[in-house]
Amino acid sequence: MYNIGVDLGGTNIAAAIVDEKGKIVKKASRPTLADRSNEVIIADMADLCKELMEEMSLELKDINSVGVGSPGIADAKNGIIIYNNNLGFRNVNIKDEFKKHLDVDVYVENDANVAAYGEYEFGVGEEYEDIVAITLGTGIGGGVVIGGKIMSGSFGGGAELGHVVIDIDGHQCSCGRVGCWEMYSSATALIRDARQSALDNTNSPLYKAVDGDMTKMNAKIPFDLAAEGDVFSKAIIDQYITNLSKGLVNVVNIFQPEIIVLGGGVSAQGEVLLKPLREKMKKEIYGGEDMLQTKVEVAKLGNDAGIIGAAFLYKQHK
Ligand SMILES: [Zn+2]
Repeated sequence: MYNIGVDLGGTNIAAAIVDEKGKIVKKASRPTLADRSNEVIIADMADLCKELMEEMSLELKDINSVGVGSPGIADAKNGIIIYNNNLGFRNVNIKDEFKKHLDVDVYVENDANVAAYGEYEFGVGEEYEDIVAITLGTGIGGGVVIGGKIMSGSFGGGAELGHVVIDIDGHQCSCGRVGCWEMYSSATALIRDARQSALDNTNSPLYKAVDGDMTKMNAKIPFDLAAEGDVFSKAIIDQYITNLSKGLVNVVNIFQPEIIVLGGGVSAQGEVLLKPLREKMKKEIYGGEDMLQTKVEVAKLGNDAGIIGAAFLYKQHK
């Protein structure tokens, strides 16, 4: 038996057939074209699944379930996407609509939650019961799995960890609040700060690295230059890690999970990021320096975590 995981993103719909051991055996994607109606997007999603099945000569009886990860708020119990800003989905019943095209069991969950669940089932979380996954990307995605259960709150909109405030006088967030964690610790935030520093110091290596063209700035450049000793980049990275630690200490103070796994492009920095991060977290953890028992590591499954987690959502509904 196989399961299919779908990542319903704002730019692309990605889907994969996943075997019982959590291995992706066939994967494909196509553009979401988000301005289309939700019926058409869901039909396209089902079509992508059918295409994958055909390529592997699989029939309906070979597919146990389809799981869909979507940004926004999901009603996992009823298979409804309550809110997805990018796609303009409001109370869309994915389960019923999908079944019109492909008659299988369909499950829906928030994308950050399925990524956490993927890591829990087959990634770094394999040895742990309580994990929190934080994705450092365009924003900050937070997924919480406690005792093997996805914790998304009573109404599906919980675990939005990117929108806890760490600076009440800070940057305006698109969610309406001021000073949300993702305004400081997302890849977007790091790029914003690197650009600002480059523009303020036009003789700096940061400015030279992009030839004064700020559209070329990415999150890796300040890390690379900091490693080479550039003081401006070092300052940016140090501030970035301080901000990241503040949010992570909030996470530990609320959940105290066994492990926090970091995903997204920035997490590719590995120990360069993790070592100073753990030191900063220790200083602020409730109970004092020795009380940081939560491990902080890099996620194992990378971009596939969401698809793999979605494929196994059915286990949450047994
Ligand atoms: Zn926010």
